[in-house]
Amino acid sequence: MKPKVVKDYKFPQSKEEMPFGPGSEAGVLIEVNSGWRTFRPVIDHEKCIKCLICWVICPDGVISKDTPQLEIDYDYCKGCGLCAHECPKKAITMVKEGENNEQC
Ligand code: SF4
Ligand code: SF4
Repeated sequence: MKPKVVKDYKFPQSKEEMPFGPGSEAGVLIEVNSGWRTFRPVIDHEKCIKCLICWVICPDGVISKDTPQLEIDYDYCKGCGLCAHECPKKAITMVKEGENNEQC
Protein backbone atom coordinates (compact mmCIF):
# COMPACT_ATOMS: atom_id res chain seq x y z
CA MET A 1 0.00 0.00 0.00
CA LYS A 2 1.32 3.45 -0.87
CA PRO A 3 2.29 5.32 2.32
CA LYS A 4 0.44 8.51 3.14
CA VAL A 5 2.47 11.64 2.38
CA VAL A 6 2.67 14.20 5.18
CA LYS A 7 2.66 17.42 3.15
CA ASP A 8 2.90 19.89 5.99
CA TYR A 9 6.02 18.34 7.51
CA LYS A 10 8.68 20.97 8.19
CA PHE A 11 12.27 19.84 8.58
CA PRO A 12 13.72 21.07 11.92
CA GLN A 13 15.85 24.20 11.42
CA SER A 14 17.69 23.98 14.73
CA LYS A 15 18.33 21.47 17.47
CA GLU A 16 15.68 23.17 19.60
CA GLU A 17 13.10 22.09 17.03
CA MET A 18 14.29 18.50 16.97
CA PRO A 19 11.96 15.98 18.57
CA PHE A 20 13.81 14.61 21.57
CA GLY A 21 13.35 11.53 23.68
CA PRO A 22 11.26 8.45 23.20
CA GLY A 23 7.97 8.77 21.41
CA SER A 24 6.03 7.58 24.41
CA GLU A 25 6.17 7.14 28.14
CA ALA A 26 7.46 3.85 29.51
CA GLY A 27 4.77 1.20 29.66
CA VAL A 28 2.61 2.61 26.89
CA LEU A 29 2.80 -0.51 24.71
CA ILE A 30 -0.46 -2.39 24.62
CA GLU A 31 0.91 -5.82 25.53
CA VAL A 32 3.60 -6.97 27.91
CA ASN A 33 6.53 -9.01 26.69
CA SER A 34 5.10 -12.49 26.39
CA GLY A 35 8.25 -14.47 26.99
CA TRP A 36 9.99 -14.34 23.64
CA ARG A 37 12.81 -12.06 24.84
CA THR A 38 16.04 -14.07 25.03
CA PHE A 39 18.36 -11.40 26.46
CA ARG A 40 17.58 -8.53 28.81
CA PRO A 41 19.58 -5.34 29.37
CA VAL A 42 21.09 -4.89 32.82
CA ILE A 43 22.44 -1.48 33.82
CA ASP A 44 25.64 -1.17 35.84
CA HIS A 45 24.84 2.00 37.77
CA GLU A 46 28.47 2.37 38.84
CA LYS A 47 29.49 2.86 35.20
CA CYS A 48 26.44 4.88 34.13
CA ILE A 49 27.10 8.62 33.65
CA LYS A 50 23.40 9.40 32.99
CA CYS A 51 24.02 10.71 29.48
CA LEU A 52 20.53 9.39 28.62
CA ILE A 53 21.54 8.06 25.21
CA CYS A 54 19.84 4.78 26.07
CA TRP A 55 16.71 6.67 27.09
CA VAL A 56 16.67 8.51 23.75
CA ILE A 57 17.41 5.46 21.63
CA CYS A 58 15.10 2.87 23.18
CA PRO A 59 12.48 2.30 20.48
CA ASP A 60 9.85 1.34 23.02
CA GLY A 61 10.41 4.06 25.59
CA VAL A 62 10.79 1.58 28.41
CA ILE A 63 13.73 3.25 30.16
CA SER A 64 12.61 5.61 32.89
CA LYS A 65 14.77 8.55 33.97
CA ASP A 66 12.36 9.80 36.60
CA THR A 67 13.99 7.82 39.39
CA PRO A 68 17.41 8.41 41.03
CA GLN A 69 18.79 5.58 38.88
CA LEU A 70 17.61 4.68 35.40
CA GLU A 71 15.06 1.89 35.45
CA ILE A 72 14.06 -0.48 32.68
CA ASP A 73 10.48 -1.68 32.53
CA TYR A 74 11.08 -5.36 31.83
CA ASP A 75 7.39 -5.96 31.22
CA TYR A 76 7.73 -4.07 27.95
CA CYS A 77 11.44 -4.27 27.05
CA LYS A 78 11.77 -6.49 23.98
CA GLY A 79 15.50 -7.13 24.44
CA CYS A 80 16.59 -5.59 21.14
CA GLY A 81 19.94 -4.56 22.63
CA LEU A 82 20.08 -1.10 21.06
CA CYS A 83 20.61 0.53 24.45
CA ALA A 84 23.57 -1.73 25.23
CA HIS A 85 25.06 -1.20 21.77
CA GLU A 86 24.90 2.60 21.98
CA CYS A 87 25.91 3.12 25.61
CA PRO A 88 29.22 5.04 25.49
CA LYS A 89 30.33 3.63 28.85
CA LYS A 90 29.37 0.01 28.15
CA ALA A 91 27.25 0.23 31.26
CA ILE A 92 24.51 -2.00 29.86
CA THR A 93 25.04 -5.73 29.50
CA MET A 94 22.68 -8.03 27.68
CA VAL A 95 22.14 -10.95 30.02
CA LYS A 96 20.54 -14.21 28.95
CA GLU A 97 17.07 -14.62 30.41
CA GLY A 98 17.18 -16.76 33.51
CA GLU A 99 20.74 -15.77 34.40
CA ASN A 100 21.75 -12.95 36.77
CA ASN A 101 18.38 -11.30 36.47
CA GLU A 102 18.90 -8.62 39.10
CA GLN A 103 19.47 -5.06 37.89
CA CYS A 104 22.80 -3.85 39.30
S1 SF4 B 1 23.66 5.19 27.70
FE1 SF4 B 1 24.84 4.15 29.31
S2 SF4 B 1 25.89 5.77 30.43
FE2 SF4 B 1 24.29 6.73 29.21
S3 SF4 B 1 22.53 6.84 30.63
FE3 SF4 B 1 22.32 4.93 29.48
S4 SF4 B 1 23.30 3.37 30.77
FE4 SF4 B 1 23.99 5.38 31.50
S1 SF4 C 1 16.80 -3.79 24.98
FE1 SF4 C 1 15.71 -2.52 23.47
S2 SF4 C 1 13.61 -2.36 24.24
FE2 SF4 C 1 14.90 -3.05 25.96
S3 SF4 C 1 15.51 -1.17 27.03
FE3 SF4 C 1 17.14 -1.64 25.55
S4 SF4 C 1 16.60 -0.47 23.71
FE4 SF4 C 1 14.76 -0.57 25.01
